[in-house]
Amino acid sequence: MRPALAVLILLAVLVVGTSVGLHVAAGPSAADAATGGKAVERAAAAGVKPVKEVPLLELPDPLPERTLQVPILMYHRIAVLNGDEPAVTTGLTVDPGEFQLQMAWLHDHGYNTISQLELFQALEEGKPLPDKPIMLTFDDGYRGIATIAAPIMTQFGYSGTAYVITDRIAAKKTAAPTWLTWSQLRILEQRGWDIGSHTVSHTEIPHMSPEAAMKTLRQSRFALERHLGHPVQWFCYPAGSVDQKSVDAVHKAGYVLATTTKSGDTLSAQDPLRLERIRVSNTTGVRGLAAALS
Ligand SMILES: [Zn+2]
Repeated sequence: MRPALAVLILLAVLVVGTSVGLHVAAGPSAADAATGGKAVERAAAAGVKPVKEVPLLELPDPLPERTLQVPILMYHRIAVLNGDEPAVTTGLTVDPGEFQLQMAWLHDHGYNTISQLELFQALEEGKPLPDKPIMLTFDDGYRGIATIAAPIMTQFGYSGTAYVITDRIAAKKTAAPTWLTWSQLRILEQRGWDIGSHTVSHTEIPHMSPEAAMKTLRQSRFALERHLGHPVQWFCYPAGSVDQKSVDAVHKAGYVLATTTKSGDTLSAQDPLRLERIRVSNTTGVRGLAAALS
């Protein structure tokens, strides 16, 4: 093939690829539309049918001036403790009976869970939220999210967000029982849940080179998009570790909302990639939850 012809073909492929990516939603930046759109297209080509329709979103520029009081609870592991877990795991574990009491308390006090999309639209577009909105998030992708937390939450009409580490997602239910499987992620979506990225291998973004950070941000997003068949633009910083460079990288990788471990419930439309949360640990209990929400 003559070099000039090869260049022409390459250009044609690039133009077609970009326009196909752009039709997914109006207005996203060309880079994000092309990359995010391609992962979703590959999923469609492989026969992956999305459980739900999710639009490709873009943060407004400039970001609006708006603050919302929306508690975002941060859970990790919902499981019965054996007593032989390392202290760090014990601290992250909420007993299923205790979790049930917490959900019942939220329900008795009129709290309504909202989705990531609802939070995005309220924060960045000013759309109204239900009374006493709350978001329930679960970090790291423990199996008990699907087998224990979700069934309890369904009793109260609640759904949440699972931030998963894509290298740990098991292919089959018979695999290591610690982590969620790909099919469980789809079942969670059927229950109204959102799935977000917690990177490929739980590396702290500020401690990585810019190239490595971008790689883990993009690879985890695309892995989720290929398996779920729709854009995935929700992120959670491993260990809550974040600085301005991390925020910029998360934005560039196509995410529109990101949560930290900074304590609070005041969310700013100016800072959608650095959202505060309320930690619920082994010792929080209903009393601690009530105090944190008062
Ligand atoms: Zn984590």
